[in-house]
Amino acid sequence: MIPAKGYAAQSAETDLAPWNFERREVGANDVQFDVAYCGVCHSDLHQIRNDWFPGIFPMVPGHEIVGKVVKVGNAVTKFKIGDLAAVGCMVDSCRTCENCQNGLEQYCLKGGAPTYNGFEMDRKTPTYGGYSNTIVTNEDFVLKVPEKLDLAATAPLLCAGITTYSPLKHWKVGKGHKLAVLGLGGLGHMGVKFGVAFGAEVTVLSTSPKKEADAKKLGAHNFVVTTDPEQVKVAKNSFDFILDTVSAEHDFSLYLSMLKTDGVHILVGLPSEALKVPPFSIVGGRKSVAGSSIGGIQETQEMLDFCAEHNIVSDIEMIDIKDINTAYERMLKGDVRYRFVIDMATL
Ligand code: NAP
Ligand code: ZN
Ligand code: ZN
Repeated sequence: MIPAKGYAAQSAETDLAPWNFERREVGANDVQFDVAYCGVCHSDLHQIRNDWFPGIFPMVPGHEIVGKVVKVGNAVTKFKIGDLAAVGCMVDSCRTCENCQNGLEQYCLKGGAPTYNGFEMDRKTPTYGGYSNTIVTNEDFVLKVPEKLDLAATAPLLCAGITTYSPLKHWKVGKGHKLAVLGLGGLGHMGVKFGVAFGAEVTVLSTSPKKEADAKKLGAHNFVVTTDPEQVKVAKNSFDFILDTVSAEHDFSLYLSMLKTDGVHILVGLPSEALKVPPFSIVGGRKSVAGSSIGGIQETQEMLDFCAEHNIVSDIEMIDIKDINTAYERMLKGDVRYRFVIDMATL
């Protein structure tokens, strides 16, 4: 076994603290890389707090992981020592179901292996995430990182990036569309960048008036403060798509009223509460509420390459790992500009 160190929550009631654990030996098809940076996703916070389901503890969060390869197995063909490498939200899947065969490993019908708070495909070895010094992953689930992008700012692409890129691609959002990005946090700010890159007219829907200048700098064309009834009134019936990145319970009828007829409300945010969608808010106007989860491995690589080509990275605030608990408190208040990234050299 390979000795590893990281930060873990020992239970849903405790803060993150240093913890030593073990990674598996590098198998024939495995890549080991030392983690240089790891992004901080709101899903990390949901999971250490058991917001979605009872977690597996100790839990080492982190699924926006980038670093340099230090060891490769005999059969590895994609990577060599010294290469940049990345891991996102998945470390394996069944590979044989219809979805895996179609490059939709995130929807593996047998249930894949999440990067942390889950089990390897043997269904008994717990997985540990990127708030750690090193990681061992099957090469098929390791992404190639374009050399030209800033490495720390690339980390959030592995979750916040692909989670917003994939639905915009799936629904073919682009020129001629009015896209609203709901919530300007880690996912939201990437949604703005991709929406603009794909040619849509992008509006940010936010509860934070102070984020307007940033939204415009990110490329958004319009900004609506959703707590201001006058601004909401102007926005009624105006969007083809809403990309909903909100992490907490929110009022669907308010946002659905801003969709055009046949508009689609695409949910990527994962509040712990069940959705309350009043029937009349979708029946009138033939509107849809849809959902989307991260993206497949091939699509994640495509997204990274697209980012290299269009010079897209995340806007980040670098933190020391000892400040992770404070970062979570700020995240809960919506005070993230726009993704925390842990400098793993501080571990
Ligand atoms: P984040 O950085 O904390 O951003 C969330 C944003 O939502 C906040 O900045 C805030 O934006 C807005 N917000 C928060 N509470 C709100 C409320 N009560 N009402 C309205 N708006 C509110 O979080 P994130 O990392 O982007 O993640 C967002 C959500 O996506 C989380 O639930 C996360 O678990 C989920 N997620 C899903 C996937 C997937 O595959 N589907 C992948 C990653 C993350 P404003 O200040 O602009 O209002
Ligand atoms: Zn995430
Ligand atoms: Zn599968």
